[in-house]
Amino acid sequence: MPRAPRHSPPKLVLCVIDALAPAMLEQAVAAGAAPTLGTLMANGRYVPDCVAAFPSVTPVCAASIVTGAAQDGHRIPAMNWFHRDEQRYVEYGSSFRAAQRFGIARQLTDTVYNMNRAHLSSDTLTVFERLDDADVRTAGTTYLMYRGRHRHEPQRDTALARVVATLMRHPVMGPRELFYADIFASRRTSCRSNLGMPGIRDRHSGCVSSYLVEHDLFDFLLLSLPDNDWYSHKYGLDAQLHSIAQADTQLARVFSVAGGVEEFLSEHAVIAMGDHSQSDITATIALQDALAELGVFGPVRSSEAPRADEPRLAVCPSQRAAMVYALHEPERDAMRASVATRALSIEGVEHVMWLARDAHEKPSEGIIASPVHGELRFAPGGPVQDARGASWSVEGELATIAATVREGRLATPAYPDALGRVWAALTCPTSGEVLLSAAPGYEFLDWGRQAHVGGGSHGSLHACDSLGALVVCGAQLPRTEPGQWAIRDVAALVLEHFGLAGP
Ligand SMILES: [Zn+2]
Repeated sequence: MPRAPRHSPPKLVLCVIDALAPAMLEQAVAAGAAPTLGTLMANGRYVPDCVAAFPSVTPVCAASIVTGAAQDGHRIPAMNWFHRDEQRYVEYGSSFRAAQRFGIARQLTDTVYNMNRAHLSSDTLTVFERLDDADVRTAGTTYLMYRGRHRHEPQRDTALARVVATLMRHPVMGPRELFYADIFASRRTSCRSNLGMPGIRDRHSGCVSSYLVEHDLFDFLLLSLPDNDWYSHKYGLDAQLHSIAQADTQLARVFSVAGGVEEFLSEHAVIAMGDHSQSDITATIALQDALAELGVFGPVRSSEAPRADEPRLAVCPSQRAAMVYALHEPERDAMRASVATRALSIEGVEHVMWLARDAHEKPSEGIIASPVHGELRFAPGGPVQDARGASWSVEGELATIAATVREGRLATPAYPDALGRVWAALTCPTSGEVLLSAAPGYEFLDWGRQAHVGGGSHGSLHACDSLGALVVCGAQLPRTEPGQWAIRDVAALVLEHFGLAGP
């Protein structure tokens, strides 16, 4: 029998504010610019250091939030990755120019359809699927991850929707109520997303969420407010003061349907969180150029042929992280070594990571190399315990991840949950052979040669990108809280709120 939690309000809203940086949230609340979030923090548990996935980019984090797994389970490895079976790049939308290089239709198909259907592991259930199976009324606003048990046809109500529908012809499986840009809408509302243009997407989420509250259409709602990330990319971290205030306005709008924040909280639990943070960008790394001599596979559009001569590598920049794939199995080990050596000499690369395998091809240890500090080798199981309670064996230079070990406790505050996150990234079957993380201030140029110099970005293993805000208000916390919260802990909070076992 599912256990109904006592004293908890029956409904739950999970509000993901993209890139919600704890320091900026605290400043916005102190300045009176985010009174709704301030009320949630005052009435709930505020965690200022909830660890993102690595790479700390939105597709990987979104998949971790909805499944409670890291990418060794959910299999979404990055913003840009190489599909070994299909021998092509997958691009989820690093920038408009990057999408153009791969083909806009291809990028939209990968992001809207394939990410949830083909790329997200079918063995890893989402909170929507778990709750749908338990007959909980689920709902979602436009979010990268929406996979559920209810079928939705593309809508053709408006001229705009008909244009979109020429590209987006297929139905999807989502939560019971799904509002996804102008493509899917389970109810007729007056809310319009205008093709999901950055800067006005929060308003669409606020509009449809208000409708859902007004008509009592959900028990669980994933309310996504993505504009903070876009704004912070463009104007830098400090500008989040403005975009957090905008997000707060949308939350206040939704809560006001119930009569205000107090009234809303009497009937709803709320979890508000960032998926990762951001840090300011001053310089770029052109990894494609730095590795060009080794033979880099270009972002070929399907209509174009033939390809560049003898490509031997795929290079996948994901903002402040990157991956490199060896295209030919027999030269994989040699290629990994040449890529790692070259990568360590590139200015702005802080960590280069790869996996050693035993004679049976099983991962035996992970290597994290730094151009300054040398190598740290590690593997799961062993005498030291990290802040989340996982056990590891470590050998080599602890300085590589600024780690200390005292009485068997491994602390890596500058690179939170470093070993757990790097291991999940390295052993994810869709990841590349070599992973890179950029030093603070640096960003890898995407395939459209875009970066966010003068603005903010994220993706690295460093704390400056990796620690997001988490506020839990009205939902039951675990009896023993994790030594360090991570975004992949949130799915269990959601499921347990409805009396289901965690993932
Ligand atoms: Zn972002």
